[in-house]
Amino acid sequence: MKTILVRLGSKTYPIYVGKGVSRGIGKTLSRKRIAGACFIITNPAIRSLYGCAISKSLAGSGIETRFLAVADSEKSKSHKVWIRALEDLAVFDKGRGACVMALGGGVIGDLAGFVAATYRRGVAFIQVPTTLLAQVDSAIGGKTAIDTEFAKNLIGAFYQPKAVFSDTSFLKSLPMRQIRNGLAEVIKYGVILDKGLFSFIENNIAKILRLDERCMQYIISRCSQLKAEVVTVDERELLGYRSILNFGHTAGHAIEAAGSYRKAIGHGEAVAIGMLIAFDIAVKTGMADPLAAQRLGRLIQRAGLAT
Ligand code: NAD
Ligand code: MG
Repeated sequence: MKTILVRLGSKTYPIYVGKGVSRGIGKTLSRKRIAGACFIITNPAIRSLYGCAISKSLAGSGIETRFLAVADSEKSKSHKVWIRALEDLAVFDKGRGACVMALGGGVIGDLAGFVAATYRRGVAFIQVPTTLLAQVDSAIGGKTAIDTEFAKNLIGAFYQPKAVFSDTSFLKSLPMRQIRNGLAEVIKYGVILDKGLFSFIENNIAKILRLDERCMQYIISRCSQLKAEVVTVDERELLGYRSILNFGHTAGHAIEAAGSYRKAIGHGEAVAIGMLIAFDIAVKTGMADPLAAQRLGRLIQRAGLAT
């Protein structure tokens, strides 16, 4: 297991990465005296895959649990679902100081984080990301949000979790398309912050696509470390530095919006194309080497993503 710290003064928190780390959730929550009750937001598919194991871990430490399974869709990041979650949480909590846990991908993480940020002006929040994208990106850094009909993530808060448990064994049930979606963000970290990581992905792409444990632990912990460093410098994206994480997202978001955020194009798939568009502009304006653009294009292709 690897532990990475997101250093934010009194809000500093650990990210645990590795096979089976979710089995230790109950012990960690009780050791850190986080809460005696836990409201777990998930979706039906993830609940049936991992819900039992998580509630067993919590029950083993005397923590009472309640699940709220919301529809498996970006549409669950809505004000209706948010209010429903707050009401269910209030009934379960009864003023005991329950924590909120996100068990799922980025949709669940964003929604649950916003519930935790807004219930009683903020209660303890635990991230248990189950997609590669959530493990390397959305579960880290404290951005929480719901969507409106006008824009995605329009209503939200910066709200840091108390801990993140990135269990690599969750990835085994993840459809390959979702692995590739997450890989686009992993490649992005290589481009913006870590040449060594980029070369590692080039040299190990076949193993990564087979979910080789050592490779997955390395790329998830390395990306977590990189994102943690950026967030430590510019938590609220006020200095301009955090926007380095948006590389590939300008055109990427336009592509997603043009597809109305339906499943036709995933976030990572759009970001992969967005990175190539950004590179194309940079090459045309003399700011980037065409060979570097070709190298990125080759890796994106080898990862099975569209260019
Ligand atoms: P997602 O949450 O929709 O998950 C993708 C699919 O995988 C879903 O159908 C889900 O049910 C399924 N799934 C999840 N874990 C599984 C598992 N272990 N086994 C089998 N199936 C599993 O998508 P995502 O790509 O994880 O997240 C996208 C969301 O994240 C978007 O709403 C985006 O706005 C948000 N996001 C937030 C941040 C942030 O910093 N807060 C960053 C990036 C993206
Ligand atoms: Mg992204």
